[in-house]
Amino acid sequence: MSAPDVLVIGAGITGVAAALDLVQAGARVEIIDRYGPAAMASGWTLAGVRQSGRHPAELPLALAAVAQWPELAARLGAETGYRQDGNLRLARNDAEIEILRALVTNQRAAGLDLTLLTDLDDIIDIAPGLSPRIRAASWCPTDGHADPVATVTAYLGKAVAGGARVSMGESVLGLTDRGGRITGVRTDQRMISAGTVLAAPGIDVNSLLEPLGHAIPLRRPIVTVLRSMPQAQMLKPVLGVANANMAARQEISGRLRVTSGAQDWSGAMDLVDGRPTARPRMRLVMETIARISEVLPNFAEMEIEGFWGGILDLTPDALPVIDHVPGIDNLVVAAGFSGHGFGIGPVTGPLAADLALGRAPRLALDAFRFGRFDGMETAEAALTLHG
Ligand SMILES: Cc1cc2nc3c(=O)[nH]c(=O)nc-3n(C[C@H](O)[C@H](O)[C@H](O)COP(=O)(O)OP(=O)(O)OC[C@H]3O[C@@H](n4cnc5c(N)ncnc54)[C@H](O)[C@@H]3O)c2cc1C
Repeated sequence: MSAPDVLVIGAGITGVAAALDLVQAGARVEIIDRYGPAAMASGWTLAGVRQSGRHPAELPLALAAVAQWPELAARLGAETGYRQDGNLRLARNDAEIEILRALVTNQRAAGLDLTLLTDLDDIIDIAPGLSPRIRAASWCPTDGHADPVATVTAYLGKAVAGGARVSMGESVLGLTDRGGRITGVRTDQRMISAGTVLAAPGIDVNSLLEPLGHAIPLRRPIVTVLRSMPQAQMLKPVLGVANANMAARQEISGRLRVTSGAQDWSGAMDLVDGRPTARPRMRLVMETIARISEVLPNFAEMEIEGFWGGILDLTPDALPVIDHVPGIDNLVVAAGFSGHGFGIGPVTGPLAADLALGRAPRLALDAFRFGRFDGMETAEAALTLHG
């Protein structure tokens, strides 16, 4: 293939959604990934698809994404595992009730269908396996969840059918800039010259940006993820909690996939069967089981299929960067999704594609500017309401 108009770095949800949009706009596209589709955050994820709990700046993206999700499988011609079964965010004490009360007030004012449930019977009707000690919950019936690997695979398949070239198992080692443009992309196998580079490399974004004199201030905490063996249908919505220290959903396979809050991470990762793997500490696994079991009492009795660590790319304001890299015309970055970039992928990928093609972005990107952290040394954001 001749030089691509756009080289997309990263075959997670952001990169593949961007690639499809670019191909459909008539661009010659190559998508490159060091490991393979959904090898990092887009495989580690809980994969909740939610509007509830979103930052006001991200809510329009989440609303636009949820408008697409129900038709996505038909559009992509392959399963996404999407289920619009709602999001139930639980309060376990008085302080959490107040957090949810404020959330519901604010998000209803912003137009979201979100209700505060204070009667336990109403909550148990939605999720029968819950502990009777739950005090209240916010309920968003239009939220849901999906199968992340199936979704990324579906996007990639459609992009390839549209003409995208896919180079998996190839690592971008560096970008060469000259005169305010990227003039070359050096991989572990070759040099690529692309019209524009769209970088969606997740937690590794700064290894590409720092040699160019730029960086996004990122904290990279770990989230412990556990998965049970298949269970009879017991949980339709995604469960979250007011302080974001756990979340849970039941996959369509019947497996429960549950997550902890964010914890400090040593930074060590190794490859298992060609996939990057981060390992949570025993203590975090035990804490996660205990915390989930407080709200879903029969969780502790389920057989475990597996567990893993998921690493987040947490920015200081827990919002992503979707922008040109300052001073480099043909380099667009979409990263820093801070633990909630899966559900909005059908919108953030195309927004990055808009920038790569020089089109006016279809939604406002002011809150996601690269330069907003200028002068900031460290990332201080707490994990917002994930799940
Ligand atoms: C435990 C956990 C739970 C989460 N829960 C939710 C949730 O419920 N809802 C939600 O919306 N979001 C959730 N998220 C966040 C969401 O999963 C991520 O924001 C999203 O998947 C990020 O997608 P991405 O495409 O930007 O990055 P990634 O999926 O990380 O993809 C980046 C890709 O770039 C490749 N790459 C990196 N560097 C290079 C290089 N130099 N050369 C070649 N390739 C490279 C990597 O191999 C990787 O495949 C969660 C995340 C985690 C970890």
